[in-house]
Amino acid sequence: MTDGARSATPPELMPREVATHCPYCALQCGMTLRAGDTGVTVHPRQFPTNRGGLCQKGWTAAELLDHPDRLTTPLVRDPATDTLRPASWDTALDRVVDGIRAVQADAGRDAVAVFGGGGLTNEKTYALGKFARIGLRTRHIDYNGRFCMSSAAAAGMRAFGIDRGLPFPLADLGRADTLLLVGANPAETMPPLVRWLTEQRGNGGKLIVVDPRVTATARQADLHLQPLPGTDLAVANALLHIALTEGWVDRAYVAERTTGFDAVRRGVAAWWPARAEQLSGVPVADLEATARALGTGGRVIILTARGAEQHAKGVDTVTAYVNLALALGLPGRDGSGYGCLTGQGNGQGGREHGQKADQLPGYRKIDDPAAREHVAGVWGVPADELPGPGVPAYQLLDALGTPGGPRALLVFGSNPVVSAPRAARIEGRLRDLDLLVVADLLLSETAALADVVLPTAQWAEEDGTMTNLEGRVLRRRALRPPPPGVRTDLAIIADLAARLAVAEATGTAPATTRTPGTEPAGTAPAAAETSGRPKAAVSAGRFPTDPAAVFAELRRASAGGAADYAGISWDRIDADDGVYWPCPSEDGPDTPRLFADRFATPDGRARFHAVDHRPAAEQVCATYPLHFTTGRVLAQYQSGTQTRRVAALRRAAPEAFVELHPDLAARLGIDDGDPVRVTSRRGEFRAPARLSAGIRPDTVFAPFHYAGAGRANSVTNDAVDPISGMPEFKICAVRVEKA
Ligand code: SF4
Repeated sequence: MTDGARSATPPELMPREVATHCPYCALQCGMTLRAGDTGVTVHPRQFPTNRGGLCQKGWTAAELLDHPDRLTTPLVRDPATDTLRPASWDTALDRVVDGIRAVQADAGRDAVAVFGGGGLTNEKTYALGKFARIGLRTRHIDYNGRFCMSSAAAAGMRAFGIDRGLPFPLADLGRADTLLLVGANPAETMPPLVRWLTEQRGNGGKLIVVDPRVTATARQADLHLQPLPGTDLAVANALLHIALTEGWVDRAYVAERTTGFDAVRRGVAAWWPARAEQLSGVPVADLEATARALGTGGRVIILTARGAEQHAKGVDTVTAYVNLALALGLPGRDGSGYGCLTGQGNGQGGREHGQKADQLPGYRKIDDPAAREHVAGVWGVPADELPGPGVPAYQLLDALGTPGGPRALLVFGSNPVVSAPRAARIEGRLRDLDLLVVADLLLSETAALADVVLPTAQWAEEDGTMTNLEGRVLRRRALRPPPPGVRTDLAIIADLAARLAVAEATGTAPATTRTPGTEPAGTAPAAAETSGRPKAAVSAGRFPTDPAAVFAELRRASAGGAADYAGISWDRIDADDGVYWPCPSEDGPDTPRLFADRFATPDGRARFHAVDHRPAAEQVCATYPLHFTTGRVLAQYQSGTQTRRVAALRRAAPEAFVELHPDLAARLGIDDGDPVRVTSRRGEFRAPARLSAGIRPDTVFAPFHYAGAGRANSVTNDAVDPISGMPEFKICAVRVEKA
């Protein structure tokens, strides 16, 4: 094993080591960072989720700390040459604030929008949402997590009344008699999780994978269902149909703990297995074997991920699997349940604390009067000054620069030029803006289009908290300060607020009914309370730069909400290997397992929703005869801004590829390695062919991590789910030809 990458930061600036977590995915593997004579090294750390394992991305994470591409000075676009040039912070921030003021004076507050990211810490997420609502006073804020987990979040909310990816600890996977993974490929996306799958199978458990490709995860399965992309919902309904026919439905559970089953029962009656086979291609025998394993197993877990969720019917697809789980009496039963495998590092926390268009901190709804009163009280503003809900991410991006749409955008920790569907169109929208500001540590493809680029600190340079895929709140610890010229996101938000003259509380907050301890920002226990560290850096203003102070305020703002962090302190996180929300009291327990006694609905019962298959938004035709689907590879992460710059990862996965079945390739006259062009109604991309018998002959696949000519999202469909706003990344119609 390698010691990981090394940095050239002077040793005298560094503490010796810190126990922290990986900067990338939602598994948030425990790692130790050590500052040695030659730089920072990564070492795996025993933590309940990764048990000492790291993937290649985690091992190499420190390489970016002193990467030559690292931004260390603000950049401002020179209108004369249309190039980005180094500038002072004063110049850059003045340009941002002048631009915001000009746009808002001309077109109103909502003409400025904010776009966040699922990799930001809870503190940054919270501060960004607060800055949008009371700093800019715009309703337009959303984030790239909308492209990841939003369908499962919406399905969870309507079924269980709460959205926590896994409502049980990850360790439960190892004890499951039957584990069904739908559209999940953890062997490539979060390899240390596979230890739990190995343990599960070692204990005699059965692993069943539903995926259109023979992925690294599917290869380990006892049974692999390989449906046509976009037919997962029909598969779920057929499984429930079989369970009903065979008498495997838990009637007592359904009667006592749920509502709405009759409509679902009537709906799935039409999904006899042969019909599902005809649509999905999954043989009846495999459907029956799967239903039997689910219906007769003891401890049974059903998990969905992006493969099920990234569709224009993603919420209904996830709901179909939730219906199946409820009918079998799984949620809340020890060792059993339904869950979603969250993708981004803080995908869970990122959707709890206010950067989602319709939410306030604590997973409160922004149109709920009581929620508005509570949060406005914490923020020290009248509730009627808070804007209303904005629009989901794609709708927001697609409105940029259009008549009536936002004319300025502030982007924090996101790269929509690569990650958005129909990416060329979104790139055009970004170019149409009056002002584009990007805060990032590297010059992403989105930052390259910006008018102002603000260099930010990295994960090893700042404290904070992340909430992993289990709903467990974790500590991220700083090993060293940011390099000269670089500021934290919290400092940038505070700088902008100060320049916009919204940093200090005005004292105009109305008298409200506050949860005890919900004093306005800047007046309450702060850094020392939660971190055990001195509070010297705490700002008395509305936008503190110390993450401990922000977390203290977040606790008060979330108190009483669905995602209640009120009882979570940094000290408690340190003592307990993380704390599961909801945790309303410092003296009370946290909640590793949800739903044992009741669901988070008004009557405590889970809700069935009848859902039916509908075709993908775009059908294959003579011109575009193939299905196209996207996904990830082991050595890259999300839009690749970071991982494409890490030498070992670049060597392992240097460029995009187009995976296609040998039979299809032969028909098209394409050999392995040939450059091919993939074209949809929205655009094209080019990449070498990679032949694989593990993909259906009617479907082609490409990873979405790459920019430029290999940008898979140039062709993806921007049709969105009507409930979650999730784009249909997982299926569209394409033509493939030798380039
Ligand atoms: S990328 Fe995910 S799986 Fe890999 S080390 Fe980091 S947290 Fe763990």
